[in-house]
Amino acid sequence: MLGLGIESTAHTFSCAVIEKKGKKGKILSDIKKIYRPENGEGIHPREASRHHIEYSSSVLSECLQDAKISIKDLDIISYAAGPGLGPCLRVGAVVARSLASFYDIPIYPVNHAIGHIELGKLLTGAKNPLVLLVSGGHTMLLAFSDKQWRVFGETLDITLGQLLDQFGRSIGFASPCGKNIEDLAVTSTNYVSLPYSVKGNDVSFSGLLSATKSIAKKSKKDACYSLQETAFAMIAESVERALSFTGKKELMIVGGVAANKRLSEMLKDVCKRHRSKFFVVPLKFAGDCGSQICWTGILESGVKPSTSLKDTFVTQSWRLDSVKINY
Ligand code: AMP
Ligand code: MG
Repeated sequence: MLGLGIESTAHTFSCAVIEKKGKKGKILSDIKKIYRPENGEGIHPREASRHHIEYSSSVLSECLQDAKISIKDLDIISYAAGPGLGPCLRVGAVVARSLASFYDIPIYPVNHAIGHIELGKLLTGAKNPLVLLVSGGHTMLLAFSDKQWRVFGETLDITLGQLLDQFGRSIGFASPCGKNIEDLAVTSTNYVSLPYSVKGNDVSFSGLLSATKSIAKKSKKDACYSLQETAFAMIAESVERALSFTGKKELMIVGGVAANKRLSEMLKDVCKRHRSKFFVVPLKFAGDCGSQICWTGILESGVKPSTSLKDTFVTQSWRLDSVKINY
């Protein structure tokens, strides 16, 4: 079976083709174009959607070319239907709908956050993990039970990705800033005390963001180092409690922030203490990409009929813990 997946929830427009044989999935191509705002600015939804419109056809043709297939070879098309920015989501949905209706191909709307998790499981081989989803749009700890992902901790305000991006922009980086902060953080070992806020098993980052902005006036590198140490320690504490509570023997990190080496280092230590296996999604597939959507659409197509074109909506705030999973 051959599937095409389209991702357009926020900064990234991406198309991917995956071939499923038995239970295995092979990524034949994954092409993306990322919208980058001016230095110091955040994502402007209208500008991001314009970017996606501009690049959608070239990304799609390069993706099909790379996979060495034509649209007519596809068995299904899936698109990220939420959560995300409305104008951006609509671009992917329109492309998917147009192809599905013109070529008469079954279509599947996919939850973007579940896409991160399913591709993570495919690529890491984790079977029944506690999942840490840390990205621009999410900071959540999840475990699967009775056909749904259940939340064992999340952010009460901004996400870990937003914390890094908003701080990074305040010191002049261009969004997304996680990698720039990571690179500057390794040049310091001078920890400056910052607010640490874990409530129950949830985290809150807004106080940490304001305090880090103010210490950055003295030293940007100390601020980056201290920000990472504090935010990641908060996450590690929640992960440790959730591992202990759920008794899971695997931890898997997915989402764009999973690319951060210091975060992995801290979480590996937690896993060692709990004798749990540690998995992290490969760097290339940590951030948003079409493969996440494609693989989840393929899994869904195994257990349910395609969606009728008139029901192919987008939903800006579609929580992953509301999705029933039958595959
Ligand atoms: P996503 O929404 O899954 O595409 O993830 C995007 C987020 O990942 C942005 O907030 C980035 O700043 C963040 N990110 C990307 N690379 C890194 C990194 N090396 N360290 C920390 N955060 C990162
Ligand atoms: Mg994402």
